[in-house]
Amino acid sequence: MKVAFLDRDGTINLDYPDMDWKNVENPILLDGAITGMKLLNNQGFEIIIVSNQYIIGEGVITFEQFNSFHNQLLEVLAINNIRVLDSFICPHSRTDNCECCKPKTGLILQAIEKYPHIDLSESIMCGDSVSDLKCAKTMGLKFYGIDFGENAIKDLSCLPTLVR
Ligand SMILES: [Mg+2]
Ligand SMILES: [Zn+2]
Repeated sequence: MKVAFLDRDGTINLDYPDMDWKNVENPILLDGAITGMKLLNNQGFEIIIVSNQYIIGEGVITFEQFNSFHNQLLEVLAINNIRVLDSFICPHSRTDNCECCKPKTGLILQAIEKYPHIDLSESIMCGDSVSDLKCAKTMGLKFYGIDFGENAIKDLSCLPTLVR
């Protein structure tokens, strides 16, 4: 099984400064997200969302706020016939020193443990920050950066033609 590991905030939906998340209720999808994710599915990629949410552990938002936002996002994607296999989230604060906060690789390892058929050599990762890039590099995953890095792309709609 080949997987597109996608960061969430700043990759699929609009991101905000940490403290502003307190008042965010609905996801705003970024340009190209729907198109790109749909094409990735069509090319045989399962989509797994991997997201740092240290704002939960640091008390900016509650788990309920996180769930409400995330479920709305998943609903919008489902309505658009996009298949998201799973989401792996790090809720810990940055001082917890957990193993899952990207750039650490715990979220990917959790995914592999739950889905042992994942073929990392055929899988890819895409995100908008250096921690995504570092996580991908450590796991040996081909990485595409939203607007940064060697394999920079403008938005997710540019990804499918590169990974075909
Ligand atoms: Mg991000
Ligand atoms: Zn964590």
